[in-house]
Amino acid sequence: MTASFSQLLSPIKIAGMTLPNRMVMGAMHTRLETLDRPIERLSAFYARRAEGEIALILTGGYAPVPEGVMEDVAPLLNSSSQLQEHREIAAAVHRAGGRIVLQILHAGRYARTPLCVAPSEGKSRINIFAPRALSTQEVWDTVAAFAHTAALAYEAGYDGVEIMGSEGYLVNEFTAATTNQRTDEFGGSLENRIRFPVEIVKAVRAKVPASFAVIYRISSIDLVENGMTGAEVAQYARAMELAGADMLNTGIGWHESGVPTIAASVPRAAWAHAVRNVKQAVGIPVMASNRINDPLVAEQLIRDGVADLVSMARPLLADPDFAKKTRLGRQDEINTCIACNQACLDRIFSEQTATCLVNPRAGRELDIPETKGASSRRIAVVGAGPAGLAFAINAADRGHRVTLFEASAQIGGQLNMAKRVPGKNEFNELIRYFSAQIKRTGIELKLSSRVRPEDLAQSGFDEVILATGVIPRIPEIQGLDHPKVLSYVDVLEKGVAVGQRVAILGAGGIGFDVAEYLLGDPEESLDIPVFMGSWGVDRTLQQPGGLIRPALPKGPARKIHMFQRKAESLGKNLGKTTGWILKARLRRAQVEMTGGVTYRRIDDQGLHYGVNGEDRVFEADHVVLCTGQLSNRSLADGLKQLGVRHQWIGGADQAAELDALRAIDQATRLAVSL
Ligand code: FAD
Ligand code: NAP
Ligand code: SF4
Repeated sequence: MTASFSQLLSPIKIAGMTLPNRMVMGAMHTRLETLDRPIERLSAFYARRAEGEIALILTGGYAPVPEGVMEDVAPLLNSSSQLQEHREIAAAVHRAGGRIVLQILHAGRYARTPLCVAPSEGKSRINIFAPRALSTQEVWDTVAAFAHTAALAYEAGYDGVEIMGSEGYLVNEFTAATTNQRTDEFGGSLENRIRFPVEIVKAVRAKVPASFAVIYRISSIDLVENGMTGAEVAQYARAMELAGADMLNTGIGWHESGVPTIAASVPRAAWAHAVRNVKQAVGIPVMASNRINDPLVAEQLIRDGVADLVSMARPLLADPDFAKKTRLGRQDEINTCIACNQACLDRIFSEQTATCLVNPRAGRELDIPETKGASSRRIAVVGAGPAGLAFAINAADRGHRVTLFEASAQIGGQLNMAKRVPGKNEFNELIRYFSAQIKRTGIELKLSSRVRPEDLAQSGFDEVILATGVIPRIPEIQGLDHPKVLSYVDVLEKGVAVGQRVAILGAGGIGFDVAEYLLGDPEESLDIPVFMGSWGVDRTLQQPGGLIRPALPKGPARKIHMFQRKAESLGKNLGKTTGWILKARLRRAQVEMTGGVTYRRIDDQGLHYGVNGEDRVFEADHVVLCTGQLSNRSLADGLKQLGVRHQWIGGADQAAELDALRAIDQATRLAVSL
């Protein structure tokens, strides 16, 4: 049965705009402005999303004053001398048939600059800079600055502004008692704490015509101690409506919150209860956000009366055609955001520019074109892991005739192990996407076909691409032939039964994933009550900040001890924005972690190792090797002997520091060069 998206595809009027559907691209920092040709890049990035029929685009945040920038290189809009670049961006989106709203964001105490300011003194734990408290006059000046930026946005041709009042930035720091100890008219009672956003919206409204949309992003659940209760949020939402907002967007949690809000371990649409609370308080349209990556989920939120529109940020990095594919009933072809944060947020927080693991063209529209090749060649691709798949699909889209060989009975390569790890369920979507693209492009897929060098020599292909991936690295430790020694492949792919006491050797991404898998906990990402309980979220919204004491963990299913040779804390290189979640879960399950070890031997007793000059033994039922990987180049010698020209990609090209991000990026770039 085909799904109906009657709600999601219905138009809605916001100020002077009639949006053709309910799908909005949420604001994202991309740092594209730090690259060469920034305006061209931003225009191409946004225009491509407008071509994909997203109803409305919210830009990344522009600060209204210099002390409000996220970092020194972050953008600011406070003078008419900056208007030309904005005119170009707005015009590019309009030419593509879209609508675009400028977000005004004052970073407050999150600004990574020594100039940062806040309602009160007090450093955030996620910033090295301590803020200065604004004087009363400075608060009023900041209100005026927001209005000035809105007027500039109107002049530049934008369709509206979004005022960022959530995520723990300046406005949110005023509304939550935890960061507001002021004694003037902007501190104390709820009425005083929300005065700052109320006055901003009033001042903005006074500067722009009624046709120009004023969207306010409200923090629907703060997820920090001493944040607002649900009743206070409802009162605050009503005040914003009265002040003149045309629509409320919702934010979830602060950046410093101890509860994950957008990672893959967060269930889809987990925050519906907080959004519904806002929706029930007001008469203007309300937009839901966070972990909405699927049109079915989006449709359901609107049908259930949770929200009128959905804001999706990362899903529009992953697929600029999300809305168009939904309209055409081709939702199977949507390249779904898997919420990994690897190429977007993790890069932003490492002072790099955002792109997307599943779509390397995101933010690189000028560098990786979507055009056909000059001639059509016959190409053999060996290996249907992410590298082989990305290459094959992009090469087929260029007009080449592609045959894709895969030794196993399914596509996906190592993604088939990743998807079994709790919190990585979304990898199933990536495999589904690749599958749909194989059908769409007409790639000839040959499963259960282990290629030999002679197969490639005889069949007259113009190009041979080898994406044969990696094999586990087997370290040199005495006793490796003991039956209690397993590899991560035995555990995650072959499903070998694992005992109660487990030593994990190697603490890279795979070591941590194996530990998580062996905990045997229920899959939080598929169960909203379990997720809320384990992270201490109050679903009744009665408690300040929406926080309660987390449910006590049940006793761990196994005794797990992780080891590494490097004398540094384990998990140092896990994702910047997700590693803490994994480490917190393992800590709760009392997983032990020891670095700086020397492996001595494995025997009936378990793992013998040395640490700090002392010999120790961990009595283990099983020892699981997660000690890295080596390129699988088993075809290399044969191909050389037979004189078959070939190119390596993905893990087969280089195993060190390999991940799906690099594999897909390299494969896509090579495909568009042919
Ligand atoms: P592979 O995925 O290894 O695919 C190679 C394919 O080639 C295989 O399907 C194999 O069967 C086939 N093949 C080999 N020889 C032949 C032959 N002769 N003929 C035909 N077919 C052949 N990366 C991330 O970015 N993020 C993550 O969160 C993440 N989590 C992971 C979790 C786990 C548990 C694991 C194991 C890996 C994870 N990775 C993650 C790593 C990621 O999966 C790999 O980097 C990626 O799969 C490498 O892609 P590839 O195409 O080069 O190789
Ligand atoms: P890895 O990150 O390189 O980790 C390998 C581990 O093995 C290290 O802890 C290393 O630590 C140890 N090791 C290396 N050589 C060894 C030897 N000779 N003897 C004993 N121990 C040895 O690789 P991985 O965990 O296999 O992961 C493979 C790739 O998949 C990674 O590059 C990663 O990016 C990707 N991945 C990513 C994620 C994610 O969530 N983003 C998840 C899983 C995998 P010591 O040398 O200190 O002992
Ligand atoms: Fe989504 Fe990962 Fe792409 Fe970020 S990098 S947009 S989280 S798929």
